[in-house]
Amino acid sequence: MTGSSFREFAELCEKLAETSERNAKIQLVASYLKALSPEDAKAAAYLLVGNPSGEKRREPINVGWATVSEALEGGKVATLLQSELTIQDVLQLLRSMAKQEGPGSRGVKKAILQSLLSRAGPLEEKWLLRIIFGEMRHGVSHGLLLDALAQVAGVDAERIRRFDMLVGDLGELAEKTLKRELETVELKPFNPVKPMLAEMAQSVKEALIEHGGKTIFEPKYDGVRLQIHISGGEVRLYTRRLTEVTKSLPDVEEAIRKGVRCREAIIDGEVMAVDERNRPLPFQETMKRLGREKEVEKAAAEIPLRLQLFDLLLLEGRPCIDKPLTERRRLLEEITVDKHLLTPQLLTESPEEAGAFLSNVVEQGYEGVMAKDPRSLYTPGRRGGKWLKVKPADTLDVVIIAAEWGHGRRRGWLSNYHLAVLDEETGRFEMVGKTFKGLTDKEFEEITSYLQSIKIKDMEWGVVVRPELVVEVAYNEIQQSPHYRSGYALRFARVTRIRWDKHPQEVDTLQRLKTLYEKQFEKKGRLNTGE
Ligand code: AMP
Repeated sequence: MTGSSFREFAELCEKLAETSERNAKIQLVASYLKALSPEDAKAAAYLLVGNPSGEKRREPINVGWATVSEALEGGKVATLLQSELTIQDVLQLLRSMAKQEGPGSRGVKKAILQSLLSRAGPLEEKWLLRIIFGEMRHGVSHGLLLDALAQVAGVDAERIRRFDMLVGDLGELAEKTLKRELETVELKPFNPVKPMLAEMAQSVKEALIEHGGKTIFEPKYDGVRLQIHISGGEVRLYTRRLTEVTKSLPDVEEAIRKGVRCREAIIDGEVMAVDERNRPLPFQETMKRLGREKEVEKAAAEIPLRLQLFDLLLLEGRPCIDKPLTERRRLLEEITVDKHLLTPQLLTESPEEAGAFLSNVVEQGYEGVMAKDPRSLYTPGRRGGKWLKVKPADTLDVVIIAAEWGHGRRRGWLSNYHLAVLDEETGRFEMVGKTFKGLTDKEFEEITSYLQSIKIKDMEWGVVVRPELVVEVAYNEIQQSPHYRSGYALRFARVTRIRWDKHPQEVDTLQRLKTLYEKQFEKKGRLNTGE
């Protein structure tokens, strides 16, 4: 196979790891990508962020250290006509490893790995293993790669993020950039796009200040994000990871058919499981419904879902994402005949009113509130704080990087989880604490079997795993820690939700943890001075 060599890719990675300055990294990546064919740029983009399966699928390679070291010890299988390893070869072989399942799969994976390693020099081997273990440590985050692509395309940072939102996959975005096809990308039904996300604010007051003194508050539902596409009499539903879930949710489809009047639209909302009195149930009940593909009608009767709509991206062939929120909402109200579907809103300038809204919402069993800047456009990701979530408890999204075997009641389960945040500067996941609190027996079982499937290495005390599983943890305080390389530790961390819907790159960052630490210190300072 022809194409760009993996050796060149490994050399780039090595240079990136030695370069600390962000702009210099962007330059390196941009000039590397510029020289590639569109197909190679696509493969390189997946490999650069250490995610060969791409964003729309969840297919981790699941190869443990034991298999890797056996493959390494097995020695090189030399053949006469050893062709040079290309990035396409690597991507394809890693993907075929990820597809192996069931008995005998370990042997097949080992054989594939051995054939890969035998064609790799020491530098290529090093970067191959980093891709396999899911941690590149060269500081190329999703955002940095976007900035490099912006440079290749000759567009600004905002614009490339808009394209990323519309395309929904870094590899495809890189390919389109090289093909000079970005401008042809458009919002259209049945092409799910990345949803707008929220940043955290400490209080409703902070949210008001951030939004210039006046903002819209909505309940923050503890459910699952749903993007609803309607066209030609058809309705399709997508999650925030852009997978289609229409088949699992016939009741939601029905609610849309009855409650929304239009020919073509893309609507944003949240769906949650509710009890017989329409009160929200815990998040895992909603997840159960989304996972069901058989006996769906029965599941729908057992766990009813409630749909809440809050945004509109496209209406009758015209994009709405560049209209302000208030205008998008007005259009959404026009097409929504079942008014129960509309998320309630409070537009206010008053911290007191906002505070009362928050207490009321929490009283009703919701997680907190969302504050949305009334003037804001529908922008990708969580940039600029246009949407802010305010929760009464402090929580962080972290990724599990290792787990210890439990004792006593928790014997047989992997139960003490090592929690990590993402250091945006280095691209490493850095540990900030451990916890075994907050989970039900069933969740322990579920997590134990999942963690074993993404195990990298067995240890005497437990397992080291590929950073894949995101959990939301509540904590009482952030402390400085001489113990962890991150420099920080979460005091009394406990798991509040397993975030099967989140990608490890979406966890909170070390940089954010530092800011939160400082803020907390400010608060304490005020308390001490009696303010
Ligand atoms: P988080 O997942 O904690 O970062 O919070 C953002 C998520 O909250 C969104 O992706 C939605 O799934 C969810 N959400 C709940 N209620 C709302 C709302 N009223 N507006 C927007 N997102 C909401």
